[in-house]
Amino acid sequence: MGTEHIDKIAGLDLSTLTYDDIRWQCGTGVSITHGTGRNKTYAYRQGVLTKLGDMEVSVWEKIAYHLVEANDDLYHLQCLSEMLRKHDYGGHYARATGKTELKRDALRHCVAQMHNNPQWASFVEYNQAYRPDHLKLVSLVTVVTECCNDPFEAPEAQTHRDRIYCAHCGRFSAFVSNTMKRTPKYL
Ligand SMILES: [Zn+2]
Repeated sequence: MGTEHIDKIAGLDLSTLTYDDIRWQCGTGVSITHGTGRNKTYAYRQGVLTKLGDMEVSVWEKIAYHLVEANDDLYHLQCLSEMLRKHDYGGHYARATGKTELKRDALRHCVAQMHNNPQWASFVEYNQAYRPDHLKLVSLVTVVTECCNDPFEAPEAQTHRDRIYCAHCGRFSAFVSNTMKRTPKYL
C-alpha cells in the first residue's frame, strides 16, 4: 500500500492520525538529483515506509512526537529511551550520530507500543522497572533457559516457540517452562 512521498506536515490532519498510520515498516533511502551538468547537485532523502506512505524521516519524527504527546505517552517515550541506552551493548548511541538515532529508535518503539506487547524481548524487564502494575494483567510463567539455567519469569505469550530471549544473557535460547511436561537433557 501507498508509496506516496510525504515530505511536509502541511496538508495532513494530525488530529485524525493514529500510531498505526505511522508505524515504522522499514527505512527507505533515495538519492535525488537537482539541475543538470555543472549545476547538478545531489541530495539524499531518508524516509520511513508507513501505512500512509513514504515519509521523510524528520517529518515522521515530528508527527511521531506529536502523537506521543497527544496519547499522553511522554513518560513511556523517556523510559523506552532509557531502556534502549541500557541495552546498547554495541555502543551505538554513544557515537556522534547516536543521539539522533536514540531519539528516533525510542519514538519507533513508542509508536509501536512495545511496552504493551508481551512478545517484546524486554517486556518484563521494562514493566518491572517502570510500570509494575501492568505485569498483573499479563500471564507470566517461570522458564529456565539452556544457556543460563537460572529461572526467570516470562510472558506466556513468548513461550509458544521453542526458543525464548534469555533474561540473563539476552541469547535466543532453548528453554523449559513450568507449563511444559517434558524435561530436556540439560536440566
Ligand atoms: Zn542466558
